[in-house]
Amino acid sequence: MVNAFSFACTACGKCCNSPPAMSLPELFRHRDRFIGCLAIGRVPRRRIGERVRVGRHEAVLDEADIAAFESIADTLLHRAGDTFSIMTQGYDYPSLARCPALADDGRCAIHLNGKPVTCEVVPLDPLVPDTLQHLVLAGRNQSASYLGADCIQEGERADAALMTAEGEIKDANARNALARRRRALEKEREVWGRAVFESLRKDLFDSPAALARIPPGGFLTISIVPALLAVASTSARCRQLCLDYIDSQLALIDRSIKQALLRRRLDDRPVTQELRGFAHAYQRAQTLLGTPLPAMEVESGTPSSLSPIEAYLSGADR
Ligand code: SF4
Ligand code: SF4
Repeated sequence: MVNAFSFACTACGKCCNSPPAMSLPELFRHRDRFIGCLAIGRVPRRRIGERVRVGRHEAVLDEADIAAFESIADTLLHRAGDTFSIMTQGYDYPSLARCPALADDGRCAIHLNGKPVTCEVVPLDPLVPDTLQHLVLAGRNQSASYLGADCIQEGERADAALMTAEGEIKDANARNALARRRRALEKEREVWGRAVFESLRKDLFDSPAALARIPPGGFLTISIVPALLAVASTSARCRQLCLDYIDSQLALIDRSIKQALLRRRLDDRPVTQELRGFAHAYQRAQTLLGTPLPAMEVESGTPSSLSPIEAYLSGADR
């Protein structure tokens, strides 16, 4: 079989070495465990005829590949000259080298209780067309996060699920997880992504000097507050959900910084500074959202009367 890769996760926890990307409702659900942030990345534009090589695996991109990349960009990403991803994700001290949900026995503490969809998608990448996911697997196989785990194997294996072959995702669970993550990203773009992109356009996306802050192949992390302000503006109930979230986040940041100060690590200092910046942004948002807006009436009612965005944020539309 061409480009066949098999996958069997033993839940060793090796790739759980940082907080994952999470949708806003997932962050709301796990507000006492994950500090939320916005991660902004630049997504390279692909061209017909471009060679993409990972180890001994190679693809020359054709018209269909480019159309698939364009379709992903049109539905999940943002364009301002270049293409950008804006996603919410968990944030923590890199020195800890672990996801806050990774239990001491190496298992995921929220596996049965709202594990982020991103973690179900692992080791695939929702921003890459299905026809090229074998290159994603080849790349993961070479990365430090998976070193020694042996969960990704080339070819068909009796003791593992066939993940990719002949330009398709063969495993039904993986296909399902990819579809759910892509749907979630599309929804995030609709609910707050476009508004945040526009609010950052002048200061970030239209300024080459500001854009230089996005590390090549990496992410610029900023406070999640612009996303909260976008959803809070839709109704009084959304505003209250955001205020409740901010309360929990301020307490979590406080705990997290106190633990870092006890560790006394030099490399924690810039992260502590960034977390203090997040806390200040939350406090400013608290003041802003705590002031009642005359046009925004406080609704009452049962969960059945939730607006689509309220239902989305509270997870009632799961
Ligand atoms: S490194 Fe592989 S085996 Fe270990 S948790 Fe991650 S996907 Fe599973
Ligand atoms: S949420 Fe669970 S599966 Fe996902 S990175 Fe954290 S520990 Fe791993």
